[in-house]
Amino acid sequence: MTKEIGAISDGAPPLRVMMVTSEAVPFAKVGGLADVVPALAAELARRGHDVRLVMPRYADATKNGAAPLPGALGVPMAAEEFWTEVFETQIEHAGYCVTVYLVEHLELFGRNAIYARPGDGGSSEDLLRFAVLSRAAFQICRKLSWSPDIMHAHDWPTALVPVYLRTVEKRPPFAETAGVFSIHNLGYQGVFELDQISRLPLNRGRLGREALEFYGRINSLKGGILCADLVTTVSPSYAEEIQQPEFGFGIDGVLRSRAAELHGILNGIDEELWDPSADPLLPATFTADDLSGKVACKAALQRRFGFPVAPDTPLIGIIARLVDQKGLPELLEPGYGCLNGILSELGVQMVVLGTGDPRHETRLLELAQAHHNLAYERAFDEPLAHLIEAGSDFFLMPSRYEPCGLNQMYSLRYGSIPIATRTGGLRDTILDFDDSGDEAGDQGTGFLFDSCTPTEIYHAVERAVRVYRDRPQQFAAMRTRGMRTEFGWARAARNYERLYLRALQLRMQH
Ligand code: ADP
Repeated sequence: MTKEIGAISDGAPPLRVMMVTSEAVPFAKVGGLADVVPALAAELARRGHDVRLVMPRYADATKNGAAPLPGALGVPMAAEEFWTEVFETQIEHAGYCVTVYLVEHLELFGRNAIYARPGDGGSSEDLLRFAVLSRAAFQICRKLSWSPDIMHAHDWPTALVPVYLRTVEKRPPFAETAGVFSIHNLGYQGVFELDQISRLPLNRGRLGREALEFYGRINSLKGGILCADLVTTVSPSYAEEIQQPEFGFGIDGVLRSRAAELHGILNGIDEELWDPSADPLLPATFTADDLSGKVACKAALQRRFGFPVAPDTPLIGIIARLVDQKGLPELLEPGYGCLNGILSELGVQMVVLGTGDPRHETRLLELAQAHHNLAYERAFDEPLAHLIEAGSDFFLMPSRYEPCGLNQMYSLRYGSIPIATRTGGLRDTILDFDDSGDEAGDQGTGFLFDSCTPTEIYHAVERAVRVYRDRPQQFAAMRTRGMRTEFGWARAARNYERLYLRALQLRMQH
């Protein structure tokens, strides 16, 4: 059974936690993972824990005042040894500092792309790159004479951390270190040809190989799931869903086998960075009590994209990696997707920001040519993301699945009402508008639909626009409720803390 962790008893001992990740802001970001890891680390630091972070130093990352650790760091990998240089720096988050170790190796990380093939592994290069990163985390601890209570790895790139903990690193100073593995997206598993396994330092026992092997190939995620003392994912609903064949991406059986150790903890958001009352990226700030700044943001967004500055026209925003997971085929595919219909029939304006699958990018460019009420910006643009959240009335997020999702939480805070699929973290963060009976409108913070199909998306947008036009008071009340919802990191960090203590207990039993 999957459970959300209960309340933490105060007075937990300070823990030493090493986080290992392929992405973290401000150094490297592809998706939500990069926001989540440093924010969680800082919140744990605020609670008194000694939390540090290891990640690669990619070519385009500034050294950001980083100082090299003395001497090169050797990272043994089966028959080879990789010599890296490690830079130490700090990231500050909400007033708390986390020490970051950036692993530099020109051949492995000296490129601009974070992943050789975006996200899904497949290139044996990525197996080696992140296998070295994962092993480097242990070597850094040795170099610092700092032995962590917890090694916390995130997603397939660092799934080898818990595997090493059970195999080649099951010895001092890590003999009592517990491994926690977090799944941020089951859709990316790090699958590679089996012959590459000989490049991994897994000592001679069968455990590592058996954990990693899946239908004749290496499946990094499977290794992490089976070897970690505890496994987490980023929302309670997603923790349930991934144990079902429909959302399990082929490894639901593996997850079911660890159901007792699988926990869903909802991500928080950075409430300082995403604060409409003090956001320096906006032309005007606003609060739930005074929305005049939001009106100005909407006008600015309309002007920026050459739309008529019409305060009463519903404006819908989308910010996403343009991948199938985000429901792009259901919106865009010719003869199938519903965006054409939404734009032609519902009297809305729409702004889309995102990059990704060239198929989706091209189609969006075509649709923006054909519809005066659609603007598409093919870019990764943080300031524009803030303006879209602030200037939109609605935020459309028709994900096929969504482990947690951050944008819907930003939207709620910025008074942009989410229209989203009832799945994963979307289900756990958005309360559907209740328009039944006399008390209509007394509940809800957004519009949910059951499954990501063109028809359901279309009808959800239609329903949302109807409430916007016909029931302005209820719409306003819904917006206020959303803006007042708490999504900070404090609750999540307490849950991770409790989980770390449980992982340590489980480790003792091994
Ligand atoms: P995922 O991690 O699946 O991409 P999330 O909603 O959890 O989805 O997180 C996405 C993060 O990336 C958010 O912070 C979002 O604002 C940001 N983002 C995605 N695409 C862009 C873009 N084109 N420009 C600016 N920010 C973007």
